Amino acid sequence: MDRMAGLLGEEFAQFAQSYDETPAVGLRVNTLKLSAADFSTLSPFALKAVGRHEPDGFLVTDASKPGSHPYHAAGLFYLQEPSAMVVGGLVAAQPGELVLDLAAAPGGKATHLAAQLQGRGLLLANDVHTGRARLLAENLERWGAANTLITSAEPEHLAAQFGPIFDRVLVDAPCSGEGMLRKLSFAGKSGPFEWSEGMVLACSRRQTAVLHTAAQLVKPGGRLVYATCTFAPQENEAVIAQFLREFPQYELIDPPRFAGFGAGRPSWVDPSLADDNLEKCVRLWPHLFPGEGHFVAVMQHMDDEKLQRFEKPLKFTPPGKKELAVWRAFADEVLPADLAEERLLLVNGRLYLLPELALETGKLHLIRYGLLLGEMGKGHFRPDHALALALKPEDVALTANFAADSDEIAAYWQGLDFASAGPDGWLLVAVHGFGLGWGKRVNGRIKNHYPRGLRRNRDWRLEIR
Ligand code: SAM
Repeated sequence: MDRMAGLLGEEFAQFAQSYDETPAVGLRVNTLKLSAADFSTLSPFALKAVGRHEPDGFLVTDASKPGSHPYHAAGLFYLQEPSAMVVGGLVAAQPGELVLDLAAAPGGKATHLAAQLQGRGLLLANDVHTGRARLLAENLERWGAANTLITSAEPEHLAAQFGPIFDRVLVDAPCSGEGMLRKLSFAGKSGPFEWSEGMVLACSRRQTAVLHTAAQLVKPGGRLVYATCTFAPQENEAVIAQFLREFPQYELIDPPRFAGFGAGRPSWVDPSLADDNLEKCVRLWPHLFPGEGHFVAVMQHMDDEKLQRFEKPLKFTPPGKKELAVWRAFADEVLPADLAEERLLLVNGRLYLLPELALETGKLHLIRYGLLLGEMGKGHFRPDHALALALKPEDVALTANFAADSDEIAAYWQGLDFASAGPDGWLLVAVHGFGLGWGKRVNGRIKNHYPRGLRRNRDWRLEIR
């Protein structure tokens, strides 16, 4: 607070006062599944548009708990702090592009980028911590994003494997998290969050290293976006100023400015590094914007040689005849839509559908490659939850569709079997027309195949308020 008082001067009183206000709850609609307009009609939560900068984003204005609703489990939205939504908006990935989210877990921005790609091109989502990368995989699966490659690697290893091939690279850097303090204190949490001036400096050094490596992954003419959720100039303007000095081929872009978007502060960095262009960075403040605060810098690689991308396509062996027959028997019965067989990849008994744009990954630690279809059993195929979340009811031969507040959805989410008339076989259990998971009907009962780790302990209807 002392540091911010010194930096903000007269503005500090307003900034300090914002810490007495309750943090806003935001959600961003999954436009891979439905439009924002359709979601606002369907929504059981009171919503208010977050602003013109993010047409798919909303503030939740009542006390409901959207994370405990089956629509969340069906991947219709991601709960995202409103200022974090600005970051994906400024990356502005276009369908068909090759996009890298270098520090992606748990996946707020990655789900945003996947929605922007609309199933075309490739999103490589990486997090150096494997446990967090698995959480990222779970969130991207719920999102129904099939054109993703999820890795857990050091940025240097990605740079060595791929080189400068990506149209857009996002570095949502690990930071001292000053923008998280208000939320944590409202949640009554004091730990494991830690902050110190030494940590700010350590973060600054790490951010510089990660950003410099990220620059080696952007193709000429591509875009590099750097973001943090902290206020410290050492982790923001100073990192960018130093980067621009060492990488003169990059220039800051002045992004469109919407209500509440503040400018970067050149005067907050060491005078030897100060540059008026730093004003082009975006600062979001909790006293001026409905969110916890973010810093974003959008940089363009100015080399305009229009180099052809030279990504290496993945070389892989297709599944053998026996496995293919098992898959076909399942697909013919359950999935009327054809899935491209030439993109099937079998790894340790797990069958994936590779993205159309699949890169050679060498020795990188892969968490997911494309859409996990399921596992090969002895003579049978067991579909994975990820496949259910990526399918629409019209892609599946049998669907059992129920209203969100029905007894069937409550039972299904708890992992229980329940009665349902209709033909036997694998079916998609859907909530209001959106896939929630697999079930298998046998003699008028649906056997539950909802993943054990995602089941609720009790009826969600008792927990929502
Ligand atoms: N982008 C995420 C989102 O929107 O949900 C949040 C990312 S969080 C701010 C920063 C992430 O960076 C953490 O998940 C952390 O594990 C990861 N990280 C830490 N050190 C890293 C490094 N050297 N390289 C890449 N990622 C790193």
